[in-house]
Amino acid sequence: MSNKNSSNLRFSELSLSPKIMRALDEMNFEFCSPIQAKSLPYSLSSHDVVGKAQTGTGKTAAFLIAVFEDLLKERANDVRYAGEARALIIAPTRELVVQIAKDAQQIGKYTDLKIHTLVGGMDYGRQLNKLHSSLVDILVATPGRLLDFCEKREVYLDQLEVLVVDEADRMLDMGFIPQIKRIIRLAPKNTHRQTLLFSATFPEDVLRLSEQWTHEPIRVEIEPESIATDTVDQKVYLVSTDEKLTLLTNLFRDPDVGNLIVFANRRDQCKRLHDQLSRRNLKVGLLTGDIPQSKRIRTLDDFKKGKLDALVATDVAGRGIHINDVTHVVNYTLPEEPEDYVHRIGRTGRAGASGVSISFACEEDAFHLPAIEELLGRKINCEQPPSHLLKK
Ligand code: AMP
Repeated sequence: MSNKNSSNLRFSELSLSPKIMRALDEMNFEFCSPIQAKSLPYSLSSHDVVGKAQTGTGKTAAFLIAVFEDLLKERANDVRYAGEARALIIAPTRELVVQIAKDAQQIGKYTDLKIHTLVGGMDYGRQLNKLHSSLVDILVATPGRLLDFCEKREVYLDQLEVLVVDEADRMLDMGFIPQIKRIIRLAPKNTHRQTLLFSATFPEDVLRLSEQWTHEPIRVEIEPESIATDTVDQKVYLVSTDEKLTLLTNLFRDPDVGNLIVFANRRDQCKRLHDQLSRRNLKVGLLTGDIPQSKRIRTLDDFKKGKLDALVATDVAGRGIHINDVTHVVNYTLPEEPEDYVHRIGRTGRAGASGVSISFACEEDAFHLPAIEELLGRKINCEQPPSHLLKK
């Protein structure tokens, strides 16, 4: 983690237990990252925390350190049963669960706390055997598989001391919320557990759920990704809703447009757009949260190899796109969260190259513009699209 991403707070100032400090020393973690500096003073004193942070900010260590310290501080029940977890971390994808568990193994290296993972698509029997052969302190799981184990009475959540919900917005995007609600109903009430919830964005649904799931939480937020948008030429085309598809189709034919990423706000919009473009014989890939990771990786690969003309993505799926020669980003719909706009246009103009972002503003979404301009600290040029781009 670079200096600009660290704070002035040293881990040694947080009165962490020697076992955790020793591991952090070995990992060369000396200074807290901003999200750690803002959340740990509260989470370590048992407050609930709702944190706005994305991957790469150190949020995983932020909640893991709090989980370990809590479990080390509180004595475990004298009598414990197999499958009875003391802490639960729920994350949307297998990859994320595996990464969190790996970080936990490192941070907890000198403790004797036992970490188990439950993930779909991996050997059920092995996960079950491990639950039978060793107690579980920290359980890291994807929602579906976890619920499966709970329903089979192989896992019990009624003794949970800490609950972590990671990447809540992505879980929403992937349709996991009903499962998470059921999982949380199996846990002690929010006043009888500590809850830490992290999300990169807070659409209304996530906000509402975070209020239900936490008790008097402390809200922490780090500065949005630096607004380095100087290398992106931004324009807004004022159009009517039913002109958008023609405009986009014509843009595909523009010789200046090389690699194109199209963003829309919702999964169903992306899917429809993908179908409409495909029917017009354009080669487009679809990236939404509900598409399995392996398929998304293949799509990205095809895009990089030039087998696709464009990607159509939601904000959540689009955040993982790091490709250097994207020439154009189109906002088919303007995002509700101004920060998403910055993330979207940041997909182009990377690595010193210049890029173009074109937002289609119609009567239904133009009202999102002022907040975006406020975040950017300047106005964006609004213009009528050139007439040749509107020809059917
Ligand atoms: P995350 O946002 O949790 O995915 O973490 C991003 C990366 O930063 C991971 O590789 C961590 O190991 C690393 N990291 C997290 N916290 C710190 C820290 N305080 N100092 C140095 N590296 C860190």
